[in-house]
Amino acid sequence: MAADADFYALELLLDDEDQALLHRVRSFMEKEVEPIINHYWTRAKFPHEILPGLRGLGIAGLPYSGYGCPGKSPLLDGMVAMELARTDPSIATFSGVHGGLAMGSIYLCGSEEQKQRWLPAMARMDKLGAFGLTEPDVGSGVSRGLATTARREGDTWVLDGQKKWIGNASFADLTVIWARDVDDDQVKGFVVEAGTPGFATEDLKDKIALRAVQNALITLDGVRVAESNRLQHATSFKDTAAVLRMTRAGVAWMAVGCARGAYEHALAYALQRQQFGRPIGGFQLVQDLLVRMLGNITASAAMCARLAQLQAAGLARDEHSSLAKAFCTVRMRETVGHARELLGGNGILLEHHVGRFVADAEAIYSYEGTREMNTLIVGRAITGLSAFV
Ligand SMILES: Cc1cc2nc3c(=O)[nH]c(=O)nc-3n(C[C@H](O)[C@H](O)[C@H](O)COP(=O)(O)OP(=O)(O)OC[C@H]3O[C@@H](n4cnc5c(N)ncnc54)[C@H](O)[C@@H]3O)c2cc1C
Repeated sequence: MAADADFYALELLLDDEDQALLHRVRSFMEKEVEPIINHYWTRAKFPHEILPGLRGLGIAGLPYSGYGCPGKSPLLDGMVAMELARTDPSIATFSGVHGGLAMGSIYLCGSEEQKQRWLPAMARMDKLGAFGLTEPDVGSGVSRGLATTARREGDTWVLDGQKKWIGNASFADLTVIWARDVDDDQVKGFVVEAGTPGFATEDLKDKIALRAVQNALITLDGVRVAESNRLQHATSFKDTAAVLRMTRAGVAWMAVGCARGAYEHALAYALQRQQFGRPIGGFQLVQDLLVRMLGNITASAAMCARLAQLQAAGLARDEHSSLAKAFCTVRMRETVGHARELLGGNGILLEHHVGRFVADAEAIYSYEGTREMNTLIVGRAITGLSAFV
């Protein structure tokens, strides 16, 4: 009998209703996504066919209160992100961009009227969102200066520049664009609706990770946005950072899911694959790999669960999310590597799924702050000394 990868039963921290939702997500992912995802992954296409089912789960904007959102705990939100990634990290990323980064920007930085205007439709996934912060020449250094500019002309803002890597942007109904106000040099957020003249997207080609996610290069050429589309409570990069603090915790959970998916496929394989006349799971060295993987997953999940409790108590700081993102992604990368090793040659065949987790782990490792950036955030917090430059 194979042990559950939730080895310390963290799921029991959820009440019955939340556990039931988590199980619905699991069942949907296993039945509707796993059988088709390799087809889309190899073709670098997003599986729009799963959107009705995803909508039905009601998981967009899970932790927000009001505006048609369920107001659930950060713990359930994190576990759902983990559960999505456990079957497929591309779908988890799609959901993290829409529900986390895009809805989160509006939830944390929007005025009451703006939240009423956009969040209910986004919670129903009638409108999909994207989040444009990174630029071709500015990634880790976004806090020190964006090249994309915002210039005010009366009640209108004019945006110029480029954004790179923007997930969902080529089909999103609205994209949150972060730009530097040329008057006060501060970063501000703007909701740009699809079809706005001067806003163009081009999907990045030939990615080796998260191939089902559509990441776009956005060009903003004199894009005119009404003042009523400027996020009214985003006045400096500190406000952008508040969004990232929340979503980085979600990425740590996704790392746990990615590792867990690879581990579970590896465990099943170890019990079924025979060599030297016995299941390879009966070899000590194979068990060593499995136990290392389980240890990584258990430690990472426990860390994320405690972080979720700190979030719920209003005690989570930047460095808490950063430590979890850095630690869990390192452990994920090691875990998926062990899983691939355990499958031998089959570890690089997509049909065995583990190869997809290995590739996707590389993107999760770098997005929403690289290991180095998150390490510098924690390093500054524990020493009081900034080592960024
Ligand atoms: C699949 C994917 C999806 C993404 N989705 C989005 C999205 O939807 N929206 C969005 O805005 N962005 C998105 N990103 C962008 C992502 O957040 C950036 O890739 C990430 O922040 C790193 O920036 P960069 O790639 O420009 O690397 P760089 O900043 O160029 O870094 C290159 C290397 O230098 C290191 N480095 C940089 N500065 C320092 C320093 N001071 N000290 C030590 N090391 C340093 C980095 O850690 C890294 O190893 C996505 C990226 C990927 C890969």
